Amino acid sequence: MATLEIRDLHVSVEAEGGPKEILRGVDLTVKQGETHAVMGPNGSGKSTLAYSIAGHPKYRVTSGQVLLDGEDVLSMTVDERARAGIFLAMQYPVEVPGVSVSNFLRTAATAIRGEAPKLRTWVKEVNEVMTRLQVDPAFSERSVNEGFSGGEKKRHEILQLELLRPKIALLDETDSGLDVDALRIVSEGINRVRATGQVGTLLITHYTRILRYIQPDFVHVFAGGRIVESGGAELAEQLESGGYETYTEAAGVVP
Ligand code: ADP
Ligand code: MG
Ligand code: MG
Repeated sequence: MATLEIRDLHVSVEAEGGPKEILRGVDLTVKQGETHAVMGPNGSGKSTLAYSIAGHPKYRVTSGQVLLDGEDVLSMTVDERARAGIFLAMQYPVEVPGVSVSNFLRTAATAIRGEAPKLRTWVKEVNEVMTRLQVDPAFSERSVNEGFSGGEKKRHEILQLELLRPKIALLDETDSGLDVDALRIVSEGINRVRATGQVGTLLITHYTRILRYIQPDFVHVFAGGRIVESGGAELAEQLESGGYETYTEAAGVVP
């Protein structure tokens, strides 16, 4: 069973006037088969956590460790992290003009599996997943994320998730900007992957609504660049009624 361990992670970004510390000692362990919801107010550092694990160059790890089955993730390139089984669904997916969805997915699958998937089974696999996600077949010939609606962008992230089958999935606000129907379809996709028991999921979200579809095993409250409270699914219900204020006050966060 794969395990992602984040130990006392501190991360800074270059800001005007010098480096600004955003993550201030994050400790979290995610095992294959588990779902952890990370919930927190805007600007608390949730995306920074996801990007730092995935290896975005903008974020500088100043101390701490990220280990995947004991292997040092922080010394790996972005590609190596992906091949090791770490997947990031971005909050704001980037456009890749001139690269079709179909080429993008096949290239990604080839890179991660170490060999090109057999064309016939691959096409069948992609079509099946696209049908379940209720995307138009013409979607595969469009340029990645170019002119995609919010819902199409998120479906495309889940399409990747379902096809690439990572060990650890970092889903950064995959629920944002979705209407009720799209939220259900996207959640069902995530649940299909979870049902395999082969993925450890870090579900980053600002709202509790996605947790009606996806039952987390653990809920963590994120404030001021750290986890300030952890519990089970009931913690999300408390947040729904009480909000983040008590936690941000306790963490000394200036709103
Ligand atoms: P969240 O995803 O929880 O909304 P982020 O990780 O996106 O939070 O951002 C955390 C904090 O880091 C915010 O205050 C944001 O303004 C700041 N931040 C992120 N990137 C930069 C940057 N390049 N320069 C300065 N501040 C940044
Ligand atoms: Mg510390
Ligand atoms: Mg964010």
